[in-house]
Amino acid sequence: MTRRLYFDQNASAPLRPDAAAAMKSAEALCGNPSSVHAEGRAARAAIETARSTVLRSLDAADARLVWTSGATEADNLAILGRARAVETRSGERRLVTTAIEHSAVLGPARRLEASGWSVERVAPDREGRVDARALAEAASRGASLLSCMLASNEVGTVQDVAAVAARAGAPVHSDASQAVGRIPVSFRALGVGLMTLSSHKLGGPRGVGALLIRRDVDVEALFEGGEQEHGLRPGTESVAAIVGFAKAVESASTERIVASSKMAAIGARLRKLLGERLPDAEVVTPTMGALPNTLSVSFPGVDGRALVVALDIAGIAASVGSACASGSVEPSHVLLAMGRSAQAARATVRLSWGAECDMNDAEELVQRLQRCLESRVKEA
Ligand code: PLP
Repeated sequence: MTRRLYFDQNASAPLRPDAAAAMKSAEALCGNPSSVHAEGRAARAAIETARSTVLRSLDAADARLVWTSGATEADNLAILGRARAVETRSGERRLVTTAIEHSAVLGPARRLEASGWSVERVAPDREGRVDARALAEAASRGASLLSCMLASNEVGTVQDVAAVAARAGAPVHSDASQAVGRIPVSFRALGVGLMTLSSHKLGGPRGVGALLIRRDVDVEALFEGGEQEHGLRPGTESVAAIVGFAKAVESASTERIVASSKMAAIGARLRKLLGERLPDAEVVTPTMGALPNTLSVSFPGVDGRALVVALDIAGIAASVGSACASGSVEPSHVLLAMGRSAQAARATVRLSWGAECDMNDAEELVQRLQRCLESRVKEA
């Protein structure tokens, strides 16, 4: 049977064994973390230890951390929860963001716009980089929040969020879902007010994430019904998932330097092999200032969706644009914002890998890719 090669880690990374082991022992904690008895207190202690672990790992000791169901919910809480807080106080109604955010940011932004907010989406350059000055300048016109992702899930471009936060006169929210374990992430050094995390992008379980909130940034809850998580996220916490997530953040942060250099070596090898064997392919991901594990590659004249299906049959998991957009036929809004044509965007495939990937996997990937493209050409 063909060995499967998993090149879709930006969609979801495999569960780390240490996170799985931590979850297994936490599953024995039967109490509700809000209960006063010993079982409840043990569950509470587990989530508070997990909270400290995540805050320490991301250099965010002074921040508040709210557990959520994932990055989508954390982004919604950051944008809509911040909007609720400022609307109650001063009536400011302006959000600045980028044109290349994940739909978990762009969706809430659209909702605010529909309710009368002014929303400005700053476009990136052809490499997917958004100018920090342009963002800050847009925010200087009375914004109450600026949202700029740390690293693109689709093309891997890393934004200079520290420069944005240093210049913006408004609190900055950054979606760091794709960054932890791949590039350095320090909440303090970035100077942001809010940061989104997703567990399953860094080897933790699915269905859990977090929003980090600087203490001087006001956010209001989106749900009613309980006092959990500083009243910002009512509902009983998912104890084992939180414990597994915290373990994954801790390990991914500790192992980052070694892991990212391994991932970068695979990226360099893939670029070389693609250049030699598939010279028509255009790598969209910039060589500098991008995640070490992501290559967005355009194959002129090829239908990216058909190629992803052919790759799947050939034993390779990859994706077209972001996984969340894979169900739709619309070309990626990120590639369009980067100035690519709709045709080029539809011809683009995303490859994303982890530190366990080796040079043989890279070689095998390019061989199978070549075969898929050749058989497509023969059929045409
Ligand atoms: N933000 C970014 C940058 C992502 O890449 C993703 C997942 O693709 C999300 C948010 C949504 O994450 P989750 O699945 O944890 O809700």
